[in-house]
Amino acid sequence: MRPIFHAQLINRTFGDPGVLIDLKFERRAILFDIGDISVLPTRKLLRVSDVFVSHTHMDHFCGFDHLLRVCLGRDRGVSLYGPDEFITHLEHKLAAYTWNLVENYQTEFVVLAHEIDRQGCVKRARFRSTRRFQREALPAASAAEGVLLETPMFRVRSAPLEHHDITSLAFAFEESVHINVWKSRLDALRLPTGPWLTELKQRVREGAPDSTPIKVKWRTRVGAHVQELELGELKRKVLEFVPGQKICYVTDVADNERNRNALAVFLKGADLLFIEAVFLDADRAHAERKAHLTARAAGAIARAAGIKSVVPFHFSPRYLGREAELRQEFDDAWLHAPGATC
Ligand SMILES: [Zn+2]
Ligand SMILES: [Zn+2]
Repeated sequence: MRPIFHAQLINRTFGDPGVLIDLKFERRAILFDIGDISVLPTRKLLRVSDVFVSHTHMDHFCGFDHLLRVCLGRDRGVSLYGPDEFITHLEHKLAAYTWNLVENYQTEFVVLAHEIDRQGCVKRARFRSTRRFQREALPAASAAEGVLLETPMFRVRSAPLEHHDITSLAFAFEESVHINVWKSRLDALRLPTGPWLTELKQRVREGAPDSTPIKVKWRTRVGAHVQELELGELKRKVLEFVPGQKICYVTDVADNERNRNALAVFLKGADLLFIEAVFLDADRAHAERKAHLTARAAGAIARAAGIKSVVPFHFSPRYLGREAELRQEFDDAWLHAPGATC
């Protein structure tokens, strides 16, 4: 299967938490958390369309200024999503600068903010460069099943979890359906590969009717060729549909029963999980005070949800030089059932 996106940690495991999902064919990228993002090259930041912020502790939100600076003047805006009080925090960040020269930019840059509460109600606001980023209220929306963003290709869902006395959001990126092309069947039908296949997949994802005409264009030495086929026929003959990938992101959560139960449901069947593993189990009391997961708790949560592949991160700097211990403890809990001796 050729993945249509690539997910990676922004920083090394002791650095600020965050994940970049690069949607290669859409020239678009999304971020889970926006702490220190200075390692990301400008060309990647310019593709960022949506930023999902678990909560606004500094290590998860301080990179917004950097993104804004890079993207000002870009003709495409950016949407941000976060938990309670998020819009106020964003408003204050934007209000911290003097914008008297911002009109000099030729294009309007728009920041759309979304704030989801525990009932799934989404408050929305807009901040436009042409209004010097003054807050403008937009009508509220609702997020059924925690869905914050939905496109024909993917959706992003959130789940509220407890972190001290505030909410930290977990996120799931869910590809709608993965569409493969049978090259051998294309060959049998004497059809070429090319940009028309991208268009075909796009139409299928949008739910276009089977009668939709698809133009297949190609060139040979004898000239240009065009053949028109119906979408339904191509769907049957050359496409294969497989379940889409699910990628989850969990950070800054207390190890309690409520969070564990919520995560068992939310993470179920994920292909890839990024999960914090901040402390060693030996420092469990400290982890409890800080409302973070130990490596052992993170491994047990991943195991309970049947995750296929896991990346632990957000290691506490107190273990610099002892990374292997955290990884070992995490693997022991993830790969081996409690009490197993093998
Ligand atoms: Zn943190
Ligand atoms: Zn935090």
